[in-house]
Amino acid sequence: MAFQDLREYLAVLDRTGKLKRIRKEVDKDWEIAAVARSVFQRFAEADRPGLVFEKVKGYDIPVAVGVLGASRQIYAAALETTPGQVLDKWYHAQKNPIAPVSVPRGPCKENIVSGAQVDVLKFPIPVWTAGSDLSPYITAPQVCTRDPETGVRNVGTYRTQVHAKDRLGINCGAIHHLARHVAKNEAQGRPTAVAIVIGTDPAVAITSVTSMAEELDEFAVAGALRGQPVELVRCETCDLEVPATAEIVIEGQMLPGERAPEGPFGEYPGYVSSRSPKFVVHVKCITYRNNPVYQAFLSQMPPSESTIIRGIGHEAPLYQALKDRHLPVKDVHFTVGGSGAGWLFISLKKHRPEQVQEVVAAAWETLKPMGKFTVVFDDDIDIFDPVNTQWAMTFRVQPQRDIKIVPNTPILPHDPSGLALPDTMKPSKVIIDATMKHEFPALALPPQEHLDLVAGRWAEYGF
Ligand code: MN
Repeated sequence: MAFQDLREYLAVLDRTGKLKRIRKEVDKDWEIAAVARSVFQRFAEADRPGLVFEKVKGYDIPVAVGVLGASRQIYAAALETTPGQVLDKWYHAQKNPIAPVSVPRGPCKENIVSGAQVDVLKFPIPVWTAGSDLSPYITAPQVCTRDPETGVRNVGTYRTQVHAKDRLGINCGAIHHLARHVAKNEAQGRPTAVAIVIGTDPAVAITSVTSMAEELDEFAVAGALRGQPVELVRCETCDLEVPATAEIVIEGQMLPGERAPEGPFGEYPGYVSSRSPKFVVHVKCITYRNNPVYQAFLSQMPPSESTIIRGIGHEAPLYQALKDRHLPVKDVHFTVGGSGAGWLFISLKKHRPEQVQEVVAAAWETLKPMGKFTVVFDDDIDIFDPVNTQWAMTFRVQPQRDIKIVPNTPILPHDPSGLALPDTMKPSKVIIDATMKHEFPALALPPQEHLDLVAGRWAEYGF
């Protein structure tokens, strides 16, 4: 059964013990970030709850944080599956999209505010890195635009700074579909209509954060993930469509050629990134549900919600690309410590030694800057287990033979290690072949039959 909206999903998280409702009053300008950060530091991932701050000082709107990505278990719950099935679910959804349907009205139109009445600051938008971020940031926006030539929609999540009550800044790299739509409009001297959606059924929000082919409609992939078409309503001020059950929709326009300084913002590598000219959105209209829920992602230093959602958001297209090339891949994983981008672990059932190089080449072609450190393991290694992976890197690797530095590669977005490279040096990446290249001695473990015997008697040992 697909979730109809964010609030129905939150009720399920609550019932299954994965949600913590915080009733103490909190200040959105420092305390929400500090409490969320402490929860991510204090809880092991498997036990970490999503959070709803019910009482935000000066507001009567609750703030949900971590409800999609406090852990891989919560992410899987949002897609109504298990952590082990997440990538197969993604694979199937991208191959079998379910087109959205238009409906005449939806709860996101319960309140409509336009013109001089527009004020995004009426919503409790937190400050994430107090002392560095100059203003609040919308961290879980689903930014909707349309390709002016093909009509194909894009929904993507880009950091969005609140400049003023009716003006926002969007930080979006040139390769992203949003930037391509703006470029096509600007070439014709036209503005770009934009709808920024906050708080939807989790399949839609998760799709917004995941990279996929430009011709794919994110709402259709979300429909496949939830097993039911997403219902869309038309915006008030443009012909874009947005999920009918969204909590909040901010409609606006980007004027051709306009840029304004955006940043600094505490970014996903755990460092504050710099200020530079970025897109500007002039807000024309805000529609929202009665008693709306404001949703945000915790980003910044790993472990964070963004390291988990974006990590899986990179794993999904990579898993698909490797499968489609018929490479014998078992699992792919972007670790939390690498902020879901830097360390890529791949396990495969190697038939030929060259397959290690083929897998790495395909991975880097699919996700150009990602996998600064890419490690390939045999399929007996659990690449989600830090002990098992370090063990394999220690005892199946001879550095001179098995570690290769590849010069002149794309660099991770916002990676500060590239800031002070000498002029003669370009960014580089590392390949570690941690597969076995010859016969290895027997593993120093009790025989499997003994372990099976013990498993059958487990309760007798008093555990
Ligand atoms: Mn897209």
